[in-house]
Amino acid sequence: MIQQSTMIDPFGRSIDYLRVSVTDRCDFRCVYCMAEDMTFLPKRDLLSLEELDRLCTVFIEKGVKRLRLTGGEPLVRKNIMHLVRQLSRHLKSGALQELTLTSNGSQLERFAGELADCGVRRINVSIDTLDPDKFHAITRWGHLDKVMRGIEAAEAAGLHVKLNTVALKGFNENEIPDMLRWAHGRGMDMTVIETMPMGEIDADRTDQYLPLSLLRAQLEREFTLTDIPFKTGGPARYVEVTETGGRLGFITPMTHNFCESCNRVRITCTGTLYMCLGQEDSADLRAALRASEGNELLAGAIDDAILRKPKGHDFVIDRHTRRPSVSRHMSVTGG
Ligand code: SAM
Repeated sequence: MIQQSTMIDPFGRSIDYLRVSVTDRCDFRCVYCMAEDMTFLPKRDLLSLEELDRLCTVFIEKGVKRLRLTGGEPLVRKNIMHLVRQLSRHLKSGALQELTLTSNGSQLERFAGELADCGVRRINVSIDTLDPDKFHAITRWGHLDKVMRGIEAAEAAGLHVKLNTVALKGFNENEIPDMLRWAHGRGMDMTVIETMPMGEIDADRTDQYLPLSLLRAQLEREFTLTDIPFKTGGPARYVEVTETGGRLGFITPMTHNFCESCNRVRITCTGTLYMCLGQEDSADLRAALRASEGNELLAGAIDDAILRKPKGHDFVIDRHTRRPSVSRHMSVTGG
């Protein structure tokens, strides 16, 4: 029998999904995610890989069943495979049902085989366009051919790849039908995401924001979309696309708040626990982690924080609200 999580928030939601941002650094500078000239955390502030493992292990003992490594770009963290291999013992023991990653794919060619060997079965790869020039423009530093080789390596290693695409007004809205055909043609699911107002960037978010209700209406002119109850543990709502036979997920934090079923918390690479992606309240788990060798303090700090998990986020994007709803960038808490 699967053990229920002992982490229950004030709204009765059971927390069994942990997302861990293992680094705030990234080898891309996607224009809606980061400013070009970012200041990253000094290395000394980061949790060591051993500390990250200890922290994740306490969450798993408390009932986390799914763990996603993210960032920044998780695969640029030095020796990241050491952490993945360590964590894979919880897959072997059955305590953890899934260990997975969200990646920009740039380092996947190198790591796909080892990830599969560690028991990773699925990976999300973020691509916002299939046009190499546009890809370079939106990521500022990325090369699509390298990401494609990463996807091929992942497929060859037997990993299920899901495509994550941020819907951006005037940038990729007309390309999404082709991306959908491409992804489904390769047997990959696809998820489209609304831009969230997180962190100062160089651009105006109102110019980028494309409500997915609009995108869905556009897609329905070409495709037959049927709502399905499929779930992966994340916030996406899925439809089946009759013409391609594949699944398309919508992540709609702006047009359709999905907080009522939130089962997630997030930790940053400095051990800060965020109970909600869209709120500022946090708990410093690094202090509890370093204050004693045993895990009791840490477990207590986690329990206290879960009791403060808010009901939901209050993201706003409009011409009057110039400041981001939360000051930290997505790369701090991970997507
Ligand atoms: N580097 C990895 C990647 O590219 O997937 C993991 C981290 S990245 C922050 C995770 C996801 O968040 C990516 O799909 C990215 O496109 C998305 N993202 C970043 N900033 C966002 C924002 N402001 N609103 C919506 N999605 C965002």
